[in-house]
Amino acid sequence: AKNPIRVLVTGAAGQIGYAIVSMIARGAMLGPDQPVILHLLDIEPAAEALKGVKMELIDAAFPLLKGVVATTDVVEACQDVNIAVMIGGFPRNEGMERKDVMSKNVSIYKAQASALEKHAAPDCKVLVVANPANTNALILKEFAPSIPEKNITCLTRLDHNRALGQISERLDVHVGNVKNVIIWGNHSSTQYPDVNHATVATCDGEKSVRELVADDHWLKTEFITTVQQRGAAIIKARKLSSALSAASSACDHIRDWVLGTPKGTWVSMGVHSDGSYGVPPGIVYSFPVTCEKGEWSIVQGLKIDEFSRAKLDATAQELIEEKSLAYSCLN
Ligand code: NDP
Repeated sequence: AKNPIRVLVTGAAGQIGYAIVSMIARGAMLGPDQPVILHLLDIEPAAEALKGVKMELIDAAFPLLKGVVATTDVVEACQDVNIAVMIGGFPRNEGMERKDVMSKNVSIYKAQASALEKHAAPDCKVLVVANPANTNALILKEFAPSIPEKNITCLTRLDHNRALGQISERLDVHVGNVKNVIIWGNHSSTQYPDVNHATVATCDGEKSVRELVADDHWLKTEFITTVQQRGAAIIKARKLSSALSAASSACDHIRDWVLGTPKGTWVSMGVHSDGSYGVPPGIVYSFPVTCEKGEWSIVQGLKIDEFSRAKLDATAQELIEEKSLAYSCLN
């Protein structure tokens, strides 16, 4: 039997946390034959709720779940973890200044980075979900210098999956037949969902999404804004933010990273820019990536037209501004 993998979930008593723990315990993240030990972290005010989550995990009697550590102590939570899913963060309350939210999250990520640096397994893979996800990931790297840059990523897979979903609805094809959309940039409203290289598997072979949709105007306007604003639409409908889809996409992100992307398919991940596609290094930016043997690499050589170029640059610019705001909060 395989040794259990230790998975840290921060903000584990929150909405996304509650949804993701059962997915992980069922094997949706690391595979149906991989035992796991869950490390659940939350803050003191959520300690009772966290106990309740642990009770439910015990009650669900998951065959793959070999243990649950539920704690409000960040050091205990980070001990020997192989995967860290960082969901806990300070919410954007109405009326709060951007700088105040940033400042709270910078201090949370600074503390958690130090604990991961000292106590996590040396090859720990980190996924940041809490917003501002890209910039939180950058701060985490800053304060966990011994964790390799390649091991710190942020979630844009939900946006990626939303883009697949919109194309599937529009063309009335199953979402599993659509692939290779791209989310470029920030997990924010400046993200650029790009279908220029996306394809659909049909009985006559692979066809380009652009060709099949044939409505360039829709692709350049409504499609993009629907994906960008899907989170807000869900809040309006549910009176709560997306949790099920965020949790499911976080599992997809880690699964593909650890177990590999299918041949000929790429996914979107927020990763440290290496300058590919003219994106400045020094920011965490969402790119198309393929994964093999636990390592991601940015898909190279895709043609970027003028419309896309402007969008790639605008979202990079926003990340540069977020970075300087975050660093100003450090002082
Ligand atoms: P959620 O579980 O709904 O969301 C958690 C984080 O994920 C938020 O930062 C949220 O950003 C972000 N997020 C990223 N992508 C998405 C998406 N597509 N849809 C929704 N959210 C997304 O929040 P809860 O308030 O239910 O839970 C947060 C938990 O974190 C609580 O248990 C709380 O106790 C804990 N917490 C921990 C802190 C710490 O570690 N020091 C500090 C504060 C809270 P956004 O806010 O932009 O929606």
